[in-house]
Amino acid sequence: MAATGPAARPRRIVLATHNPHKVEEFGAIVAATRPDLEVVGYDGPEPVEDGVTFAENALIKARAAAAHTGLPALADDSGICVDVLGGAPGVFSAYWAGHAKDAAANLQLLLDQLSDVRDPHRTASFVSTIALVLPEGEEHVVEGRWPGRLAAAASGGGGFGYDPIFVPDGQPADSERTVGEWDAAEKNAASHRARAFRALAPLLAAI
Ligand code: IMP
Repeated sequence: MAATGPAARPRRIVLATHNPHKVEEFGAIVAATRPDLEVVGYDGPEPVEDGVTFAENALIKARAAAAHTGLPALADDSGICVDVLGGAPGVFSAYWAGHAKDAAANLQLLLDQLSDVRDPHRTASFVSTIALVLPEGEEHVVEGRWPGRLAAAASGGGGFGYDPIFVPDGQPADSERTVGEWDAAEKNAASHRARAFRALAPLLAAI
């Protein structure tokens, strides 16, 4: 009988989030590229996210997790960027209408701000930025951008945040829907996060 050694212990990579849903989402993408890497959540001290770009905030979170755990660390930061507002709400997407982080109020404020803006000036993108920081200090940042435009009113009960007012590009003109009307699988295949994940895969393969 062939001798078998103890099963190799998976190497771990920490995701700088307390959100188990995100750990699962990142776990699936990491597994597709690096089945030997186990994604674990982060329960250390949270740094102040005082960056003014998605990349700065993702790096702040990933650096803190790498320093605290001694493991390679991933962190993401995301939001919606409206062209006519010069890229706002951007890093302020989660609390555009105030620090209560009220998603319905954020969405309504954005609609009100654009109430006099007609197509083709309602263009916007969802943006997801992911930072990978290695304990030795190597750092990488990737970005996924999902272009579209803002609807005149919210529709659809799916998704979260600004999904009910975001109409992604590339849909047939006679059946355009907001992401609030998309199902989760459809969104997960096309979204800004999916695009950032695709850019992350070759970096994961290389660590
Ligand atoms: P976070 O990076 O997950 O903290 O997201 C920041 C904010 O951006 C969220 O609170 C939402 O307002 C917005 N956002 C990011 N991704 C999405 C999305 O996929 N759909 C809708 N809103 C999003």
